[in-house]
Amino acid sequence: MNTEKKTEQRTKLKRGGNSFRKKYNNQSHRKHKKPNTNTQKENKHGKNGIPPLADGDVRVIPLGGVEQVGQNMNIIETKDDIFIVDIGIQFSDEGETPGVDYIIPNIKYLLERKDKIRAVFVTHGHLDHIGAFPYIIDQIGYPPVYTGLLTKWMIDKRNSEFPHLKKLEYHVVEAGQRLTVGNGMKVKVFNVTHSIPDAYGFSFETKEGNIIFAGDTKLEHVNEVPVAREIEAYGGLETDTQKNLLFLSESTNSEQPGWSKNEGEIVTNILALIKEAKSRVFLGTFASQITRITAIMEGAHSYGKKIVLEGRSMKTNVDICIQSGRWVPPKGLIISTDEAQSVPPDKLVYLLTGSQGEEFAALMRISARKHPRIRFNERDMIILSSSVIPGNHKSVRKLKDNLSRHDLRIVQYQTSDIHASGHGNMDELLWIQKTVNPKFFMPIHGHHSMLRAHAQEVVERNSFDKKKIIIPENGSVIDVNRNSFKVHRAKAPNNIVVVEGFRVGDIQDVVIKDRKTLTQEGIFVVIATVDSKTGKLRKSPDIISRGFIYLRDSQELINEARSLIKKSIIKSTSHKRPIDFNIVKKHVTDDLARFLVQNTGKRPIVIPVILGI
Ligand SMILES: [Zn+2]
Repeated sequence: MNTEKKTEQRTKLKRGGNSFRKKYNNQSHRKHKKPNTNTQKENKHGKNGIPPLADGDVRVIPLGGVEQVGQNMNIIETKDDIFIVDIGIQFSDEGETPGVDYIIPNIKYLLERKDKIRAVFVTHGHLDHIGAFPYIIDQIGYPPVYTGLLTKWMIDKRNSEFPHLKKLEYHVVEAGQRLTVGNGMKVKVFNVTHSIPDAYGFSFETKEGNIIFAGDTKLEHVNEVPVAREIEAYGGLETDTQKNLLFLSESTNSEQPGWSKNEGEIVTNILALIKEAKSRVFLGTFASQITRITAIMEGAHSYGKKIVLEGRSMKTNVDICIQSGRWVPPKGLIISTDEAQSVPPDKLVYLLTGSQGEEFAALMRISARKHPRIRFNERDMIILSSSVIPGNHKSVRKLKDNLSRHDLRIVQYQTSDIHASGHGNMDELLWIQKTVNPKFFMPIHGHHSMLRAHAQEVVERNSFDKKKIIIPENGSVIDVNRNSFKVHRAKAPNNIVVVEGFRVGDIQDVVIKDRKTLTQEGIFVVIATVDSKTGKLRKSPDIISRGFIYLRDSQELINEARSLIKKSIIKSTSHKRPIDFNIVKKHVTDDLARFLVQNTGKRPIVIPVILGI
């Protein structure tokens, strides 16, 4: 998944250091209720009601990523070992969880079995697969990490913003390797195609059969026939002794029919535009599309062009590619914004962040004339090489409006083939499923409806037995052996864990509800001083409101509200001694809330402050 959305703003906030560590250690998971002693003991019902693993069974638990896009983390557990696949974040939706930065997987199940954790496997370097490392890796005791070269660098870069973390122990893997980890578990590494280099799948060769994680995948194909590399990767997982038992397959684009476009075609189309350009080209794309970015830079170099990188995540990702040795840029290709001043415009290509209209990203700042050194002119060409992530339509519209005011040429993905997702469409997913040919199948990575759509197609078009498909939820405990599987009624703890500023922990629904009400309805505060002896108001109540109505223009309403408060207080204090101030508050709140909704149609949060003197 492309996880650039909001990173420009967010990464600035996420640097931790020691203050983070102190707060984090004090607060992490602090609101998890302690399990009572009955369930804490490993009795016949097991911890938290989850039965212990039966002899011969292998347990798989998606700790996240099966009820949302992002927050990907799976575990595989045998009698002796636990292995983890990916540790990702989910970006918070401002509408759904206002004020929350990230949502991370709930790892309570792992913490209770920490001594069994042997290794973490990471499929690729996108934040929805590695972003929660800094919040989790220390808690689970720094197990060794098996992953590709570039991913290792991406994780280290992410962790470097949290200086309290120890250095990780890495084992850099390559496709075709067969590793031995933990107590003799064999794991085969295989190639997968995605929008970032060094993306790998892992096949755990358990005694019961292979349990296969492919991560994020699409297929490279020629006229809808996958190339040899794909056939080799997915077709070569089964061995003479090991059958493919369970395949976990991503569902991000399961609602998109047919085949996705090859990345190679996209790059060719973009390079054709760059080659012909008579003046500067500004290419907006996701910084996570590393394969595309490096290919375009190389192509541009062959036309004698120079590259300027704008935007923090764009610079960072290209930097990681270079530092890791994964990509060696042609000498003199990348130049600074200042150096670009002395290069002819037809030799300049800018690669920028902000194609989703992110407020502080490069493209938006230039288009709004807020960038200190770059100004558009009518000879420039803008290529928006990215789709619009659901939820970003308004900001992308604003970006396009801003760009259009410069009277320049804009090339978009809707009208030209200049963007393809890193995730396979349904026919690709079907081909992969059929080629792997597992006994049991589990769609993962996506909202429930995406998982369902994926499963339904596999049943209808690949003639797969519906009874052999598992549609999981976050925390589902699935025990599988060569004959059957069982999804337990009890789940691994799965209440949401959020990162807000420097705080990590649970968040109560009531907090989120208040935030939503505050943003949509506002707040209405009443301060009244009451004589404790007589129950009379000492003076007219003060009223403060924010985000509700403009008080100066609503004097009539405010006067009526004041007299209502007076009546309410008289009603709840008369003939009652001593005065019960809790009852007074409740009456004022109820009466006022009713009055406000009847007269304004709004339901602000009403807070009465009643002082007895
Ligand atoms: Zn990805």
